[in-house]
Amino acid sequence: MNSFLSKQLDYVKGIGPPRAELLASEFGLRNVNDLLQHYPYRYIDRSKINRIGDGLAAGEYVQLRGGVAKFTTEGTGNKTRLRGLFSDGSGSVELIWFKGIKWIKEIFLPGKDYVIYGKVSIFKNTPTIAHPEIEPVKGGVLPKGYLQPVYSTTEKLNKRGLNSRGIEKAIAGVLAYPDFYFEETLPDFIRDEFKLIGKTQAVKLVHQPRNQNDVRHAERRLKFEELFFLQMEILLKKELRVKEIRGFVLENVGEHFNAFYEKKLPFELTGAQKRVMKEIRRDMKSGKQMNRLLQGDVGSGKTIVATLCALLAIDNGFQATIMAPTEILAKQHFESLSELLSDMGIGVALLTGSTKTARRREIDEACMDGTLNILIGTHALLEKKVRFKNLGLAVIDEQHRFGVAQRARLWRKNKLPPHILVMTATPIPRTLAMTLYGDLEVSVIDELPPGRKPIQTSHLFDSARLRIFGFMEDQIRRGRQIYVVYPLIEESATLDLKDLMDGYESISRRFPKPDYQISIVHGKMKAKDKDFEMNRFAKGETQIMVATTVIEVGVNVPNATVMVIESAQRFGLSQLHQLRGRVGRGGEQSYCLLVTDPKLSSDARTRMKTMTQTNDGFKIAEVDLKLRGPGDLMGTQQSGILDLKLADLAQDSKILVFARNTALEILDEDPELKMEKHEPIAKRAAEIIKNRPNWSLIS
Ligand code: ADP
Ligand code: MG
Repeated sequence: MNSFLSKQLDYVKGIGPPRAELLASEFGLRNVNDLLQHYPYRYIDRSKINRIGDGLAAGEYVQLRGGVAKFTTEGTGNKTRLRGLFSDGSGSVELIWFKGIKWIKEIFLPGKDYVIYGKVSIFKNTPTIAHPEIEPVKGGVLPKGYLQPVYSTTEKLNKRGLNSRGIEKAIAGVLAYPDFYFEETLPDFIRDEFKLIGKTQAVKLVHQPRNQNDVRHAERRLKFEELFFLQMEILLKKELRVKEIRGFVLENVGEHFNAFYEKKLPFELTGAQKRVMKEIRRDMKSGKQMNRLLQGDVGSGKTIVATLCALLAIDNGFQATIMAPTEILAKQHFESLSELLSDMGIGVALLTGSTKTARRREIDEACMDGTLNILIGTHALLEKKVRFKNLGLAVIDEQHRFGVAQRARLWRKNKLPPHILVMTATPIPRTLAMTLYGDLEVSVIDELPPGRKPIQTSHLFDSARLRIFGFMEDQIRRGRQIYVVYPLIEESATLDLKDLMDGYESISRRFPKPDYQISIVHGKMKAKDKDFEMNRFAKGETQIMVATTVIEVGVNVPNATVMVIESAQRFGLSQLHQLRGRVGRGGEQSYCLLVTDPKLSSDARTRMKTMTQTNDGFKIAEVDLKLRGPGDLMGTQQSGILDLKLADLAQDSKILVFARNTALEILDEDPELKMEKHEPIAKRAAEIIKNRPNWSLIS
């Protein structure tokens, strides 16, 4: 950064120490460079003059040219207000001021023209503008018509004269300095390829565009830069990891894997599962540590992939661990693996928070002496006292619940880090995956096992209750099982619990014992009781499971064919999709009923419509990203994603793809950015990396 850009704002003419202090405390803007990155969030077209005679609509921002014919003052003291009748020859509007009255009367000279700007409201049929902006028309010349930038500001800044207009002026002051310039960060060949304007010009134009075209060029350039360097950072980090960290070589496909594959695999792998296995095998024998994200929609068959990988580790003399986000899920994995691998002489154990001390001791021992081959569990696996003899593979299911730091803890269980396979059923839009998981390899299972019928989803109102009950009855008569899910949001937990209980009661009345058995599971229950009820349902002893979202992730009851989601408007799209994924796991036609109020916000309506129109998790994730934005979607601060000032991962996916590919090509040719033509990139990247405190803490 050159010395002008790093200049502290208190030294900038027109800002001064008190305002500089506020800019720092309100927005973290400390130097010129920071201020120039406080980009406008929209622009107002000030090139147009409206005619009063054409009619002015309430709520509209207008710019008028004319003069004030007459002022009247009303009230006294605090209640004083000033009215002015403003005409432009075609009609008149009323201007009104509640403050600065004396000063206003002085600036309007009789017989002179002014340009005023403000928002119209209609009072008693008269168009009125309160506190308009005023500029004189000098010597008959209009003030320069232009696109006025609008900046975000705060009340405190406002009080100090730094409203949007004040910020605009401060920035204009900075841009007018003779030393204002930015070093170019993008080499010519990139700028030529994507037709990007220079950095200095882009910064100037983003604050002072002459027209929409300027805005477009400036934004495109600045967004590309942001996304490009974000990708550079991610890819360089990955490069470093790959270079510095060796991995165990797991090259044998041995007796366990083969025996299982030939004799015990209950079905043929789908094409996608086979492809993913190949990708994983290539990683595991490469000598580098694997860090792979496995994305696969709910029900796409990730568990069997994890199982096969564990067998590979065992065949090469290593142990494997599988970590799940909840106790129920861990247990389910444990049960299905124990069954799949029965009679194979493979030691499998389950470790959770509720594992008894004596059992724990056994597990610890078996883990240390290597007689235990696969340890499945929850967060409990991350505790220090869990040590392995030689952990070769860690599978993390449902990644979004675990943070980077937690992943890193698994690493430290060995001299060399184990291979890591992260599995997620929350499809992540490509653009987001590139950023959040840009440092991981990605595999996708994009095919469901054969014979699955797409789930039929409908959106119904509460008033359809009787029909819903009738439908449930019919399904139960066919031997199927049903989930009825209620929202549970921490903040309204008591009310939500009441909803759940009310629902449970009315369902119990409609489906009475002994003909029907109903399970109920909610967050306030003891883990033991939850498990008990889940098991009853899984075994088919109960027909209906009334639950809060505790069942959201992972549970597998193939005979369940109906998912009723109550107050569906209160769930996010990815949650709805996860819930729906609990059905449709067997060969029977399955259904998802979204029950809502008739009154819905437009976002909620979009969510319901998306759900009824598609079963494709990736499409749903794209919509979700658009509705909610990336930060919220992932609940994470894993990368520079939150530093993005202008670019938006949902809106700017095209630019992101360009940026990513460009970064990839460059690193392919010049992994250490040593070539002369890449010098500006190397310089900027070094700056960014210096400013990231945790950069070396590898995920
Ligand atoms: P998820 O990807 O959601 O974790 P699971 O691994 O639980 O999915 O698999 C869902 C269901 O599909 C399980 O009952 C599993 O046995 C079955 N399954 C997985 N792969 C196949 C396949 N290739 N053919 C048939 N059924 C499969
Ligand atoms: Mg699963």
